[in-house]
Amino acid sequence: MAKPIVAVVGRPNVGKSTFFNRIAGRRISIVEDTPGVTRDRIYAEVEWLRYQFTMIDTGGLEPASEEPIPRQMRNQAELAMEMADVIIFMVDGREGLTLQDREVADILRKNNKPVLLVLNKVDTSNQSEHFYDFYELGIGDPIEISSELSLGIGDLLDEVVKYFPDTDEEYQDSDSIRVTVIGRPNVGKSSLINRILGEERVIVSDIAGTTRDAIDTPFSHDGQKYVFIDTAGLRRKSKIHSNVEHYSVIRAIAAIERSDVCILMIDAQEGVTEQDKRVAGLSHDNGRALIILVNKWDLIEKDNKTTNKFLKDIRRELGFCQYAPVVFVSVLNGQRINKILPMIQYVSNQHTMRVQTGVLNEVIAEATLMNQPPSDKGKRLKIYYGTQVSVRPPSFVLFVNDKELMHFSYLRYIENKIRESFSFEGTPIKMICREKP
Ligand code: GDP
Ligand code: GDP
Repeated sequence: MAKPIVAVVGRPNVGKSTFFNRIAGRRISIVEDTPGVTRDRIYAEVEWLRYQFTMIDTGGLEPASEEPIPRQMRNQAELAMEMADVIIFMVDGREGLTLQDREVADILRKNNKPVLLVLNKVDTSNQSEHFYDFYELGIGDPIEISSELSLGIGDLLDEVVKYFPDTDEEYQDSDSIRVTVIGRPNVGKSSLINRILGEERVIVSDIAGTTRDAIDTPFSHDGQKYVFIDTAGLRRKSKIHSNVEHYSVIRAIAAIERSDVCILMIDAQEGVTEQDKRVAGLSHDNGRALIILVNKWDLIEKDNKTTNKFLKDIRRELGFCQYAPVVFVSVLNGQRINKILPMIQYVSNQHTMRVQTGVLNEVIAEATLMNQPPSDKGKRLKIYYGTQVSVRPPSFVLFVNDKELMHFSYLRYIENKIRESFSFEGTPIKMICREKP
């Protein structure tokens, strides 16, 4: 279920973004854009052979960071080691080995995750004149590519997927709900997690078969098992400057990828920020269940309209995830904190709920009776029947006479009718139209 993560690390100008764009242009279908959510080209969904994985450029394309390059490099390498299954360490095959490459290699060698050393900018069929120098890094055989000319990229991806587990069994721990808490620095994420964990008996044993135990925290409550994703990363935040938003976004992407339920924490005093929209969009696009917590509610002066006003603002700013329940909390005072675990369990149930085809089709039939399907040039859309094809998120296929006749707004209308009947609170729904032959 959770896809493997491949991180690309390398100093500026070795060609990371070119590499990324090359792959994105050819083989990556970046998940459809959510209206109003801007997307940085720092991650991409890749399909290669029968594998699907997420590739993250830890160098990123954010505006130049204030931090000195050696520091940035260390951050990148540490992030990659924490969250990736496979690391691509990219160097410049034309320029040859540099001091910074050695420094990064020193960090990467310390972990036991697979690292592929990639010499970029090898634009000819001849080996780079520096090829053998790179063995000094102690990372194994260099793989030569040219991102500019798209040479060697397929071979590289072949090497990458060799490190993935053959089945995705390793990633599944199906009776645990995997939860990640996302939100801007200082919004109260660590406080929340520590508060919840502090009150629960933390299971310290590793999850069998995962390599992720370092950053995942399993625990149970009322007979339900949970895993907090990336928790150690949150608690160990001094390691990477938490005020570097770029890194927190990358971390959020990786955590969302591996979760069932996302908890987006918003600071009551600041309201919804651009970064909040972005990570909510990531949760939505990845089909995760979502809960919105407005934290630091204790700091807000309230009258009887305050909650509604906040709610309206959130619904307006995060229009694409109307389904997410909103809870006003104060981690500091413990206000409504006891509602959070039951809420997680609830949205997780909605996320995995299946509805019966018979009942679903009654709902669709009634919806089309109440509001006629659109028509064009005398031809009217006909929905023959619908069926739920998967969960996490619930996904429905509608079989129709002509896909072109389906309007976005009508699809939305059908989705709303489905929600009126079955709720699906807290989870996005995927609606797919297919023409019946
Ligand atoms: P980044 O800073 O690591 O993301 O590097 P960029 O992707 O921005 O590339 C830096 C420069 O190297 C750009 O001028 C690219 O056109 C160039 N470059 C990237 N890949 C190749 C390659 O395979 N061959 C050559 N000759 N130049 C490349
Ligand atoms: P993180 O960066 O998102 O993990 O945020 P922290 O958990 O480190 O919290 C940042 C600051 O906000 C700390 O000083 C917390 O004590 C404070 N804080 C967290 N929750 C609340 C809250 O509900 N009310 C108030 N007033 N402060 C809070």
